[in-house]
Amino acid sequence: MTQEWKCPNCGWVHAEVPQEDVQATIMQAAVESFVHHQNNPNIMNIYLTCWSKDCGTPSSQFVPAQPGDAPALANLPAIVIPKKKTSTGGAS
Ligand SMILES: [Zn+2]
Repeated sequence: MTQEWKCPNCGWVHAEVPQEDVQATIMQAAVESFVHHQNNPNIMNIYLTCWSKDCGTPSSQFVPAQPGDAPALANLPAIVIPKKKTSTGGAS
């Protein structure tokens, strides 16, 4: 089940994706666009900030979305939520 996160600033709801998935997608997109664009080392940042153009709130400030925040069947933008550094939890 996908965790949904809401931007506290503009209210956009995003769907969390694993960082590994994003990196795989970026790799794919980078290959496809390589001939057209300069390689952007900061492309990962687009998955770490609100997708609303005039917002730019870091995803680290996002709050969990409540049921009803996002329209059903909405095509939510992907977001990576940075893992907070904690000493709890197991090894991985
Ligand atoms: Zn926002």
